Amino acid sequence: ALPVIYAVTPTYTRAVQKAELTRLSNTFRQVPDFHWIVVEDAGARTELVSRLLARSGVLHTHLHALTPRRYKRSGMPRATEQRNAALGWLRAHRSRRTRGVVFFADDDNTYSLELFEEMRSTRRVSVWPVGLVGGRRYERPLVEKGRVVGWYTGWRADRPFAIDMAGFAVNLQVILANPRAVFKRRGSQPGMQESDFLKQITRVEELEPKAGNCTQVLVWHTRTEKVNLGNEPKRRQDTVLIEV
Ligand code: UDP
Ligand code: MN
Repeated sequence: ALPVIYAVTPTYTRAVQKAELTRLSNTFRQVPDFHWIVVEDAGARTELVSRLLARSGVLHTHLHALTPRRYKRSGMPRATEQRNAALGWLRAHRSRRTRGVVFFADDDNTYSLELFEEMRSTRRVSVWPVGLVGGRRYERPLVEKGRVVGWYTGWRADRPFAIDMAGFAVNLQVILANPRAVFKRRGSQPGMQESDFLKQITRVEELEPKAGNCTQVLVWHTRTEKVNLGNEPKRRQDTVLIEV
């Protein structure tokens, strides 16, 4: 059997949430041996997400973890608690016997099917380019003789791992063997979540380049425009209640 891909998706209630999760489920449904760990940023699991997952046809685990209000400010890293909840679930429910690969799949990005074929062979930590990120068309690890030797990036090139959350995957056994590796809140600056996490589990020299030695973009850091709800009536006018 193939190693299972565990895709961790933090998500929160907003106008576009169901549209985003529908797009993701349409992609993930086509990936074999796939387990979707969806972590809602909420005090409880919502009906909307529960129903969507039930109808998705994707093997899933549905968790929740509320981000404390004091962390919900611009310039602060997002979804730290949710990703850590997923790591906690994997450590509690998976063992040395499971072959798997863990990937952090934000709900608004765009994922090609080839990406999952690439990451499935991750032995420890693998990396690849990400499109539409860091103020450039793409960022990518620079590869020489099969090894990562630096980063093509236009933003904070001093980052130890100048890579987006969507640009790496970790073997499940590495997650289990490093039980204290987590995403950090304290002292974490914007854009440093990836570096702060990766430096707990790997070194740049041992990264495994994927996607044609990091020459192909198979995932895009797309962002969805905030919806204009300026014409929503103050009180409900329609005769039916519709989930959107
Ligand atoms: N997210 C969340 N709670 C929040 C804000 C974001 O759970 O308060 C999730 C969001 O759904 C996404 C991930 O965290 O899966 C990254 O957020 P976003 O896409 O807004 O970050 P950006 O792409 O702008 O860095
Ligand atoms: Mn995003």
